[in-house]
Amino acid sequence: MSQEHSKTGILYIVATPIGNLQDISQRAVDILRSVPLLAVEDTRHSRKLLVPLGIGTPMLALHEHNERELASRLLVHLQGGADLALISDAGTPLISDPGFVLVRAVRAAGIRVVPIPGACALIAALSVSGLPTDRFRFEGFLPPRPAARRDCLQALATDTATLVFYESSHRIVDSLHDMAECLGAGRVATVARELTKTFETVASGTLEALCAWVSADANQQKGEFVIMVHGAVTDPATLDEAARRTLQVLLDELPLKQAVALAVKITGQSKNRLYEYGLSLKNI
Ligand code: SAM
Repeated sequence: MSQEHSKTGILYIVATPIGNLQDISQRAVDILRSVPLLAVEDTRHSRKLLVPLGIGTPMLALHEHNERELASRLLVHLQGGADLALISDAGTPLISDPGFVLVRAVRAAGIRVVPIPGACALIAALSVSGLPTDRFRFEGFLPPRPAARRDCLQALATDTATLVFYESSHRIVDSLHDMAECLGAGRVATVARELTKTFETVASGTLEALCAWVSADANQQKGEFVIMVHGAVTDPATLDEAARRTLQVLLDELPLKQAVALAVKITGQSKNRLYEYGLSLKNI
């Protein structure tokens, strides 16, 4: 347990838009205007957001190369009683963005860290994906090197949670291709591109179909992407054809629990396997 001091400043972690500038919250604007200093990922980039809002707060650049060194200076600033707000180029700081070293140091010093929530590409994408959101695994960016990327995907192949990845235009085709190979060509996925921007596109299909579609259309390779992949489903081969068919028919008429209970009685197959298979049918 650590206690927060009351005479120190507060570090605000402020989410900014991921495209549409109207997505900034009133609370974010108020904080960015009222604090004496902003830590930003890129001052030129942030100026484009802040100037139209009439915010002229002084800025310091905090990025992955100077975060360690700057964190101690910013700690002194906070310990002196002054507030500080952290923003990144887009979305929520620390989510595939700088800020972790700073937040950890500030919390370790017992100083208050306050979130100002707002846009985050992975949450926006998941909310429209049509994939299960009750359990998901955010993997951020896959490794750029093909061998490492495939190793990483292989390690995720049996995970039953929805898998969420960030991807850039340079690697979208390669990543979808490797996902189809390592996770299964028939696995259902959703690609969310340029969310909240002019060319926003959300497309669902099998990994194989999505890969073919994106590969064939140069426009679909432009911009920023969130790729979401349905979690691994029970290998249907472990249930015999008659059991699968029975459950499918029962599910057309009954809620999952009842359908599974009846299917167990009719087929004598494992309740757990039938339940998992039933869940996978309901979720797709
Ligand atoms: N901190 C950000 C957030 O809260 O989502 C993420 C920053 S990370 C450096 C940038 C990546 O986020 C992009 O390469 C893309 O994968 C994803 N991303 C950001 N904005 C997006 C958007 N408007 N549409 C789709 N993906 C986006």
